[in-house]
Amino acid sequence: MNPLLDFSALPRFDTIKPADVQPAIAQLLEENRALVNRLTGKNVAATWAGFVAPLTDGLERLARAWGIVGHLHAVNDVPEWREAYNAMLPDVSRFFAELGQNLNLFTRYKALRASDEYADLSLARRKIVDNEVRDFRLSGAELPADKKPRFQAISEELASLGAKFSENLLDATNAFSELVSDAAELSGLPDDVLEAAREAAQKDGLAGWKFTLHMPSYLPVMQYADSRRLRAAMYRAYATRAAEFGPPELDNAPLIRRILELRREEAQLLGYANYAEVSLVPKMAESVPQVLAFLRDMAARAKPFAHKDVAELRDFARQELGLATLESWDVGYASEKLLQARYAFSEHEVKQYFTEDKVLAGLFHAVESLFGVCLKPDSAPVWHPDVRFFRIETRSDENAKDNAGELIGQFYIDLYARDTKRGGAWMDEAITRRRVSDKTLAADGVQSPVAYLNCNFSRPVGEKSGQPLPATFTHDEVATLFHETGHGLHHLLTRVDELGVSGIHGVEWDAVELPSQFMENYCWEWSVVRELTAHVDTGEPLPRALFDKMVAARNFQSGMQTLRQIEFSLFDLLLHTDFDASDEQTSVAELLAQIRREVAVLVPPEWNRFPNSFSHIFAGGYGAGYFSYKWAEVLSADCYAAFEEAGNPFDAAVGKRFLDEILAAGGARPALENFRAFRGREPQIDALLRHCGMDGMISA
Ligand SMILES: [Zn+2]
Repeated sequence: MNPLLDFSALPRFDTIKPADVQPAIAQLLEENRALVNRLTGKNVAATWAGFVAPLTDGLERLARAWGIVGHLHAVNDVPEWREAYNAMLPDVSRFFAELGQNLNLFTRYKALRASDEYADLSLARRKIVDNEVRDFRLSGAELPADKKPRFQAISEELASLGAKFSENLLDATNAFSELVSDAAELSGLPDDVLEAAREAAQKDGLAGWKFTLHMPSYLPVMQYADSRRLRAAMYRAYATRAAEFGPPELDNAPLIRRILELRREEAQLLGYANYAEVSLVPKMAESVPQVLAFLRDMAARAKPFAHKDVAELRDFARQELGLATLESWDVGYASEKLLQARYAFSEHEVKQYFTEDKVLAGLFHAVESLFGVCLKPDSAPVWHPDVRFFRIETRSDENAKDNAGELIGQFYIDLYARDTKRGGAWMDEAITRRRVSDKTLAADGVQSPVAYLNCNFSRPVGEKSGQPLPATFTHDEVATLFHETGHGLHHLLTRVDELGVSGIHGVEWDAVELPSQFMENYCWEWSVVRELTAHVDTGEPLPRALFDKMVAARNFQSGMQTLRQIEFSLFDLLLHTDFDASDEQTSVAELLAQIRREVAVLVPPEWNRFPNSFSHIFAGGYGAGYFSYKWAEVLSADCYAAFEEAGNPFDAAVGKRFLDEILAAGGARPALENFRAFRGREPQIDALLRHCGMDGMISA
């Protein structure tokens, strides 16, 4: 039997081979096509049991098998797996695209929603039906026949405009380089950056050092180069990419207007006033005025701190660096020097304290204390010998022996970077919790969830007296591990019985980072950090004085940074609200200038063309959604504040409430209702401001 088609237990990583992919996925696609045809046939009633349940079962088999293939492609990207994955990717993508446009499915969901049965469905089931109807509507399924071709044409043009925007930006980024031939101009730059620049020049057959607008080259120049001329030249090139100063075919300005125009037309076809309203439909944020008020409130609160940040930076630049005026190309450089002068500590020194076993033990203990569960080593077939596997159980309770040690979920941790592993860190789901009627899937009727936690940390190196040294992590890496664990807990601790809204399924995307950012708070909690650290040589915990410096550096220039994020968010939202790109009197630059007059404390030069490189909103999924970053931070900080108010980061009652109302509830209930149920009120921005050091009075 093909191991990819075995859904009775954990993925069989010990037996699955690349050659299994094509037959398994082809079979599942065929099964699902036949299933969809059958379910949309004439004599099938639009009921939960007759329509949604079998469709869910069929699609889950495909998602699980394809999920394993995708996972192996991400963590073991050797040629055989890449080939096996890429060979089936077009077929799988096509299947899901067709599914999203299948009007017969839409008709069934609508019929179910209009039926008597709907009122008797559980909340979770109703939410799934509602989400399906909403998503079909937003993709134009309900438009009258004469409007559909136009809607389709807009979607296609928008997709190609987004791709062209990215291509232009990349081409413009690649088109520039700065060759430095005078070594005196390199003062301040780190050795590894210089070496890379020298190699880049050599590759072109040139002597000297070549700098580019790609981040690993551009950022260190702006941060460390003592040469103001070099910084200014690089800044100007960076800030004018894909603009009218370069080749006209790479200018993104006309694309921006066209994208805005088409999004507006698309929104109006769907019956909304503007694109921002469409963007908010599947989000937690309820209305444009609500988001605008949120952003402006936060701007007003952060502004005094941002003014103070800028004043300090100007003073420092004038007195210590001899910069009479602070230009845009001085900001990163002067900030780095100020940070070093004030909070200098060695990242390397900090890293010696976060040893792998101690970090995992501290993390697990934190999770156990918070949510009243028990984490234990477990065994399963894995894809690489470095991978570890664990289980979460209910805590054994002497008074209630009957439910002691009941399985809640399981997870893999794959910590180290490998040549064959995708970069970054991410949580992914292997199996999702749900109630099943098929006893071969789960004997007790509940399919327990399984998660993958993937990171790219450095593996252990070196030894001491014949013993291998443990891996050590930077504090950033530890925060990443807590972050991904938060996503993992959202998936694993769910109690929802229905696949479509279980765990992170169906959670609004401006709320999905709540549990992950929430967990990050714990690695800034002194009592936890003590437990997470044991010096690789001495076994001592991190000294308090070093921790205090880390905390101070964490909030460095938080006022300035907050206002910058708000500037981007307001610009994005207002562009997609009243701004009418088809009216030639309107100006994108003028709108941005207006927003800067309102919220910015550092105003870039007039020739800065930031919008032309704002890919998040013009080429990514963030159009009228850039505010989500701040939004989710507010939620997670405000949730954490509930523990602070209780006077204990591990308060049992608050932990249980967070588990019950947020983690366990998944997407079965709107995120705002989850939040209200946990906090007993609407979200407030105070906790985030306080955590960023922006509370209290400003001392002169
Ligand atoms: Zn995340």
